[in-house]
Amino acid sequence: MKLTQIDKVYGKKHVLKNVTLEFPAGKITVMVGPSGSGKSTILRSLNLLVTPESGQYDFNGHQIDFSQKLSSKEKLAIRRETGMVFQDYNLFPHKTVLNNVIEGPTQVLKMGRKQASELARELLAKVGMADYGDVYPNELSGGQAQRVAIARALAMKPQYLLLDEPTSALDPELELSVLKVLLQLAHEKQSMVLITHNMAFAKQIADKIVFIEEGQVIYDGGPEEFFSADNPNGRIKNFIASMT
Ligand code: ATP
Ligand code: MG
Repeated sequence: MKLTQIDKVYGKKHVLKNVTLEFPAGKITVMVGPSGSGKSTILRSLNLLVTPESGQYDFNGHQIDFSQKLSSKEKLAIRRETGMVFQDYNLFPHKTVLNNVIEGPTQVLKMGRKQASELARELLAKVGMADYGDVYPNELSGGQAQRVAIARALAMKPQYLLLDEPTSALDPELELSVLKVLLQLAHEKQSMVLITHNMAFAKQIADKIVFIEEGQVIYDGGPEEFFSADNPNGRIKNFIASMT
């Protein structure tokens, strides 16, 4: 998928300025940058939680022009293909873990409950949460809740998984359990776009790094060059140093 020359304005604040970025299928794109630079706004544009004022969006050859009104059908189709995972998990508190995971497949994809439950059990096993189907979210640790949130997003079989700082609310030990799941998904070639402040993890998992500053793309390329000591951009070097 690809965004071309997108602009986003909030009031008088020009939040995204002529952003053009490609997010290759089957790859892990990691977005990094200072707080308030526009990373979440880009990620949210990809699943149309945010609508830029102008620019184009190509999703598998389907072209969207943001200066035109989006149809709800278009929105729905793209939302299904871009599963979002948030920092604070956003699980339904009154539903068990299993029911959280089957919600999308049964309600949106109209899958039967039996089939959806089988799929959910498979995904819960994949994220190391097989024994927690009957548990309510408030009984889970943050790392466990986040792994359930990943299983829930995967249950819709999205082409892309979009993750907005999925581990920044977690203690390091709990963070590790989530990072392991993401590495496993990367190994399986799950397409992902990930925002993280964890530079060591970014370096480990990224096929591609994007550095955003003040609503602009400052770097778009491989992780080796980005993290290299000879990166010619002093601001990027300072940023990495400040984060590690
Ligand atoms: P962080 O690392 O802190 O999460 P970010 O890079 O994700 O930051 P964004 O959340 O994309 O940054 O925000 C970019 C800018 O847009 C910020 O100045 C923010 O205050 C502003 N902004 C974001 N959402 C809104 C909104 N709904 N209304 C007004 N301003 C917004
Ligand atoms: Mg953000």
